[in-house]
Amino acid sequence: MAATEKTSLVWLRDDLRLDDNPALTEAARLGLPLTVVYVLDEESEGIRPLGGAARWWLHHSLAALATHLEEKGSRLVLRRGPAGDIIRTLASQTGAGHLFWNRRYGLPERTIDAELKSWAEEAGIEATSFQANLLFEPWTVRTGAGGPYRVYTPFWRACLAAHDVRDPLDPPAELPASAASGRGVPASDALGSWNLLPHAPDWSGGLAATWTPGEDGAAQRLTDFLSGPADDYGTGRNIPGTEGTSRLSPHLRFGEVSPFRVWREIRRRFPHRIPADVGIFRSELGWREFCWHLLYTNPELATRNYRPEFDRFEWESLGKKELAAWQQGHTGYPFVDAGMRQLWQTGWMHNRVRMAAASFLVKNLLADWRIGEQWFWDTLVDADAASNPANWQWVAGSGADASPYYRIFNPVTQSKKFDAAGNYLREFIPELAGVEGKAVHEPWTADAPGYPAPLVELPESRERALAAFQKLKDA
Ligand code: FAD
Repeated sequence: MAATEKTSLVWLRDDLRLDDNPALTEAARLGLPLTVVYVLDEESEGIRPLGGAARWWLHHSLAALATHLEEKGSRLVLRRGPAGDIIRTLASQTGAGHLFWNRRYGLPERTIDAELKSWAEEAGIEATSFQANLLFEPWTVRTGAGGPYRVYTPFWRACLAAHDVRDPLDPPAELPASAASGRGVPASDALGSWNLLPHAPDWSGGLAATWTPGEDGAAQRLTDFLSGPADDYGTGRNIPGTEGTSRLSPHLRFGEVSPFRVWREIRRRFPHRIPADVGIFRSELGWREFCWHLLYTNPELATRNYRPEFDRFEWESLGKKELAAWQQGHTGYPFVDAGMRQLWQTGWMHNRVRMAAASFLVKNLLADWRIGEQWFWDTLVDADAASNPANWQWVAGSGADASPYYRIFNPVTQSKKFDAAGNYLREFIPELAGVEGKAVHEPWTADAPGYPAPLVELPESRERALAAFQKLKDA
């Protein structure tokens, strides 16, 4: 290659895949020597550093991605630091004439991308971005009055009515080599040097036993789900003791599977009519889109009440002991405890239990939803900048289209209804393994050595919450 020949630079972010990756496909089509980079940015203004479980996931996802890139003749360059600076330097070092990425939707990320685009223009580099991680980009879905949506159902209806979902792109057959002769191969950090994996103690055993981060793991989950649990998703999605949901959330979070691929797979399997259960699953993907729609117009969703009247809400300050009891699954309410222990062990919690565990924290313990949001951020492998705060605010009542304040999940009723045989409870709470029959839902009525007594009484704490919410309403 002549020293003056331009090269391409692809910056991968929340799109750690080769399949349906428009940035990568475009670079492959162009055929110029290619550098593919991932930047671990924990320094740029406003960027929220990943929690522990997500860091574990990222390590393994990047390792898988690097292998796939090598199989196609490319390699993954890893760099750490403020992303804007890193990309500018790398673009100059590699003589990039083209810069490609797939779009992100959080404000700090958009700011970095917009600044880079302006810089590239001045530097004579063609920067091109693509839609890859959302089916419906936030600014394309507008109410009749031209504003953003605040309620899910009309939002999703508008999405489906307004846009066709494009077909996913197949992965590139091969990628241009990355070495630019004369300039050398750009240096890469060693993945291990980023210390993304936990040590002393290493708490990741349960995560490793549960998940296969990377594109192959994502594809397998999608196949397994669509050829099994999808048929009965409407019912199965509520039963935490079974694998009734897709468990695609961390794969979608890191972009190991494209939502366009999921959409297409559904169409491919059900070309004539999408069964009702699969339709419900698709509408859950709509919730993901809605959460990003909310974050796009409310960049401070993780720290600020969406409904400002909640700024006056009088949360209780939670004692260390109570907080630890909730975090570690020792509240004395099995449904909440099983969920919190599932989260700690596997980095994931079933959606129905997430709602109950979150409701217990913000309503029965009257703790500020931000405390729970932060804990989930640290412990979920699918911790998502939009879905996590949007759902916490939904439970707290401070969010968009939120659960009404008087809806307080009763963890005992929930557990009797959705885990009638107690399989889920016994799986995650060894102290309850020997408790037989219905008593497993109310262990204080049985002999359950080692299992704690209830942290608060349900009727009393419910009344306290209702009074606090009523006060807000009356103010
Ligand atoms: P499935 O039932 O198979 O659904 C398919 C996909 O739809 C999911 O993978 C997810 O991408 C999307 N989805 C489903 N439900 C929701 C929802 N309520 N909101 C947004 N997207 C949804 N989801 C996250 O991805 N990241 C989070 O950080 C997160 N935090 C949450 C916090 C609380 C308090 C609650 C109540 C829910 C949270 N959720 C979050 C939503 C939901 O619990 C998970 O998306 C779901 O449990 C993931 O499991 P699954 O992939 O098997 O879901």
